[in-house]
Amino acid sequence: VTALEDSNYFFSYSYLISQMDMLYDPVRMDAYRTAIDENKDNFSGKVVLDVGCGTGVLSILAARAGARKVYAVEATNAAKYARKLVGGHGLEDVVTVLECCVEEADLPEKVDIIVSEFMGHFLLRESMIDSVILARDKFLKSTGAIYPSHCKMFLAAATSSRHVEDRMEAHDESLEEFDEVKDYMFNECEIDLTCLSHMYKDEVRELALHSSCSVHLEANELLGPPVAVKEIDLLTATHDDVKGVSQSFCIDLDPSMDKEKRRNFDLWVGWFAVQFNGSPDNPSLVQVECDTGPYNDETHWSHEGFIVHPPIDLTGASKVQGQIEMTRKEANWRLYDVKISHRACSGEQSGEEVSKTYYLK
Ligand code: SAH
Repeated sequence: VTALEDSNYFFSYSYLISQMDMLYDPVRMDAYRTAIDENKDNFSGKVVLDVGCGTGVLSILAARAGARKVYAVEATNAAKYARKLVGGHGLEDVVTVLECCVEEADLPEKVDIIVSEFMGHFLLRESMIDSVILARDKFLKSTGAIYPSHCKMFLAAATSSRHVEDRMEAHDESLEEFDEVKDYMFNECEIDLTCLSHMYKDEVRELALHSSCSVHLEANELLGPPVAVKEIDLLTATHDDVKGVSQSFCIDLDPSMDKEKRRNFDLWVGWFAVQFNGSPDNPSLVQVECDTGPYNDETHWSHEGFIVHPPIDLTGASKVQGQIEMTRKEANWRLYDVKISHRACSGEQSGEEVSKTYYLK
């Protein structure tokens, strides 16, 4: 990991403004609040580590649930907001805020519980899950629990012309911009950019179609039930287990789907859910789930859309078989490429394979 990569990564989190989106996400806050509040017995008298405490809100919830000690570790100077907020709630004796990477943290004791909100877009983006695993191995007692304890990633086929159209409109606008710049350069400087126009068009197209987009999908835009493409048990997962995704899948198309939608398969959509089950030694009495999928309210994570272009006509198909490969980028371990290959099938017949690699934006 280069220092620059990580300084770019941490840069945005140091602003209070960037922490606000997360605080104003009721699905997220509700899940953590309920998971902690409703399991006070598990927190009472315990030592807790908050990995990446940001403004310190999860540490405050843990302290209020009766934790004896909370170590709130934050890499950025958002730590100063955490300190202020903890003090403002009279919890400075319980919560100790440490401004450092958890990788470099030094705690005077092992902890009973790790709480962390490490999830990025499509779960793995940012790869902060690595820090939770490292913190677990370094600081968690063998009977300890992680909140959340389990993660699942989902993929679904969808028809969502409006998202794709938005993308295409942005694409057309960029092309118009090129012409404007070209005219300007020619008129003012007598330099003709025409010979770059193809390269520009290819680049714009590449960006529009080969990078993922944040979408808000409605459940009725799904062409069949989602499939789980990855499950992670945070108590046992190794760094290798969370490096990416490599999974074949089969989507059973909804036979009652209306014909128009079925003709227009134009989007893969990914999202995740996490569960708060405690640990085998300290199970949560009330198990909570934070599900960011389209059957639930919108979250700040949105859904990750991967455009299928041109759209595929699934009339006559009963399922879509495919394979997803999600790998970390060599140049930056916090970013990913997502390759999705698929073919429509009906009985023993199968269509042509379509395969595309997207950059997880
Ligand atoms: N826990 C807060 C913030 C979650 S965002 C909340 O729920 O509102 C994740 C935070 O983790 C960011 O503030 C980021 O700076 C911090 N972070 C990411 N990796 C970290 C690491 N390795 N060590 C310490 N903090 C980290």
